[in-house]
Amino acid sequence: MWTQFLATGHIINIGHDVFKENRKLADKNRESFKKSGVFAVNIMGAIGSGKTTLIEEAIKALSSKYKVAAIAGDVIADMDAARFERHGIKTIPANTGKECHLDAHIVNDLIKKNDLSGYDILFIENVGNLICPTDFDLGEDMKIVVVSVSEGDDIILKHPVIFRTSDLAVINKIDIADAVGVNPETMVRDVKTLNEKIPILLTSKKREETVEEWVKILENEMLKKKA
Ligand code: MG
Repeated sequence: MWTQFLATGHIINIGHDVFKENRKLADKNRESFKKSGVFAVNIMGAIGSGKTTLIEEAIKALSSKYKVAAIAGDVIADMDAARFERHGIKTIPANTGKECHLDAHIVNDLIKKNDLSGYDILFIENVGNLICPTDFDLGEDMKIVVVSVSEGDDIILKHPVIFRTSDLAVINKIDIADAVGVNPETMVRDVKTLNEKIPILLTSKKREETVEEWVKILENEMLKKKA
């Protein structure tokens, strides 16, 4: 039984534990990804942090060598799906309606309808925010949080859970750090305060070497799963 405490001081019981249900389906997804041999990456971050662009850069670099697929999660609209599709990869749009996150159930439905056997990597772009996606395991192999310097240097400490539970933190758009008055090193320090073990990558689409590093990390993690 899941209990919710309301601001009014009342307690309500929500019948069943939605997180428990989600975990069960996430395990099914994990099993399915394993069977298909696909490496699944859940990419989380606010709207405007640059998730879609980073995924596109990875698609461009990896799709000549590997079979790439992407799920584009959004509350509404399919602009991101259209961006992925332009690169000629298998693209699966996922509109959540009014939900602010993808959950294991949505992903389970999609992978039942879309056979991923033979695919090497699946990008799952989550719905744009730093809060709701943290509670929902999708069965993915890797969780990545993307944050842009334009979100301000207090953004990280305001969202501790997502930085504590991700496998990689990306601090993006570092080319505009000066213009927005943010020191990326402060953001790095904040991430380390929350999670001393998490690898941190500084990126900008305009700095080629950072994009190469981003792609290399994804490729290495994918190959580790296949080994
Ligand atoms: Mg996007």
